[in-house]
This record gives sequence, C-alpha cells and structure tokens, in this order.
Amino acid sequence: KGKAKKAAKTATKDIKTAAVLGAGIMGGGIAYQSAYKGVPVVMKDINQDALDLGMKEAGKLLEKAVQRGKMDTKKMAKVLSSITPTLLDDAVKGVDIVVEAVVENPDVKGKVLADVESRVSDDAILVSNTSTISIDRLAKNLKDPSRFCGMHFFNPVHKMPLVEVIRGEKTSDETVAAVVAYASRMGKTAIVVNDCPGFLVNRVLFPYLAGFAGLIDEGVDFAGIDKVMERQFGWPMGPAYLTDVVGIDTADHCTKVMADGFPTRMPRDENNAIAKLAAADRYGQKNGKGFYEYG
Ligand code: NAD
Repeated sequence: KGKAKKAAKTATKDIKTAAVLGAGIMGGGIAYQSAYKGVPVVMKDINQDALDLGMKEAGKLLEKAVQRGKMDTKKMAKVLSSITPTLLDDAVKGVDIVVEAVVENPDVKGKVLADVESRVSDDAILVSNTSTISIDRLAKNLKDPSRFCGMHFFNPVHKMPLVEVIRGEKTSDETVAAVVAYASRMGKTAIVVNDCPGFLVNRVLFPYLAGFAGLIDEGVDFAGIDKVMERQFGWPMGPAYLTDVVGIDTADHCTKVMADGFPTRMPRDENNAIAKLAAADRYGQKNGKGFYEYG
C-alpha cells in the first residue's frame, strides 16, 4: 500500500570554468578568487588598461599569499595562468558560468547580458553582481531567464566571506543550486534571497547609514559616532569609515535607490551628510578624501 515517494533529484551543475565580464574592482577580485580556488576563469573587459590592472592586482594578492607561506611560487604561477584576460567577446564560449560585473548601469548590463547569452552554450548559467538593479528587470533582456540570477559579492572579494544569491521570479532551482555550489567552491558563504531593492545586506545597511547621516545633520560629530560603534558596540568599523571604504558616491547612489524602493521606510533626503560629501567630490578612500582624509 502506498508507493514510496521518491524525490526527483537532478544533479547540481558542476562549475568547472567561468568567465567574468568587467575587470574592475569587483570583476578583478571575482576572477582572482575563482582562479585561486581552482576554477579557471576568462576575464573580459572592453579596456586593456582595466585588464592589465586586474592582472596586476591578482599578482599582488598572490605574492602576499606566497610571502605568508600560504602557497609556493609554482602554485602562484598556476593560479595566475588560469586567469585569461581578453578583449574578445567570443572568449566566453564553452564556459559553465558567466559573472557579469560591468558598470552599474541597467542599459549597459542589459546589452552585455543579451549579447553574452547569444554566445554561450544553452546550459550555461549567467549571473549579475549588481548591487542595486532588480534581477527581474535585468532578466527581461534574456531569452531564458531560468538560467539567470544575482550573485552579489562584497568588496574586497578575497576577504569578504558572504555572497548573496538573488533568486529572480523565473530563476530555476537548478540555477540557484549551481550558483550556491560555485560560491562555496570559492570559499564563500552563500545566502539565497529574493529580489528586492538592496537585497538583504544593503537593505539592512542603508537604513543604518541614513540614520547615521541624520545624526550628523543634527550636529553630532561623525568621528565620535565611529568611536562609539567601534569601541562600545565592537563593530570592526564605524559608519563614517565604512562609507569611505564603500565609496561615498556609491553609498549616495544606493541610499537613493533604497529610498525609492521603500519610500515609507527610508528617508529620501537629497541633502544629507553623505549626499553633501558626494556633491563636493569627496568619494572616500578611492580619491583620498571622504569623511576622513587619506594620505
Ligand atoms: P569598476 O568601474 O571598477 O569596473 C567596471 C569595469 O567594467 C571597468 O573595467 C569597465 O571597463 C568594464 N566594462 C564596462 N563595460 C563593459 C562591457 N561592455 N564589457 C566588459 N567590461 C565592461 O566597477 P566595480 O566597482 O567593479 O563594479 C562592478 C559591478 O559590481 C557593479 O554592478 C557594482 O554595482 C557591483 N558591485 C560593486 C561593489 C563595490 O564595492 N565596488 C560591491 C558589490 C557589487
């Protein structure tokens, strides 16, 4: 009586080769981390200087690993040679996954994703490292959105342990499983979240930063707030320093996206302390001046 129920089980797609589009801060870091953990990667950009810089940064991280006794020079050479920098669109052919990490612009990302889908095999997975653009919006550019989701890394990629895997409305379970497995292979902890402005981490972070900006507007000293968060709360860095690390322009942009997404929960204050610094071209560590100055 009653047949034993068997769960239909499909094997999780094994990611053996990857491509990263964009060799900037994030793309370069993602390519390095993939290669370091044994998944060879094609690193594609439209700019040779970006590719050179991406390779240089990967080389620096590997040299540090050698100095710290984490690997020998033979392994270092092997990892470096498993990153293939290229300007060629067709270099993505045959890879198992493509991680899109080009500029944060929905039109550019849409074009890049549609183009790449036409070049990869029918079972390749596409992911976007977008920080703010809706995964469902990006998915509209694709013929097969079931093989697409978000894969949101944090900066610096080689240090930050978390990756958000963002499931779009049409993302298949197989795609989510394969991307989670790839994140683990890269030594990261993956969390699967639904598509919404800010996903999970930025949805928590930006209301906090908006609260911080509000305190400054009321005249509280930002360095004092950092001290409280670091010394009394035990956080690794306070909100002013964190915003300098993230990039004040990026933080300002994300604050606006979050306020648009959650108008009843997040203040949209065009003129808060973060917006004012961004307008004064103080972008944080990336240009040497933000809340603090960097020599
Ligand atoms: P970046 O400006 O450092 O790099 C972007 C790279 O994309 C550049 O090298 C540019 O030449 C390249 N590019 C532009 N168009 C291209 C195309 N058509 N094909 C291939 N390459 C192209 O930017 P970034 O900070 O690395 O950000 C990349 C993505 O990662 C964005 O979506 C951003 O929101 C997201 N992100 C950034 C951070 C961060 O802290 N910087 C964190 C998480 C996610």
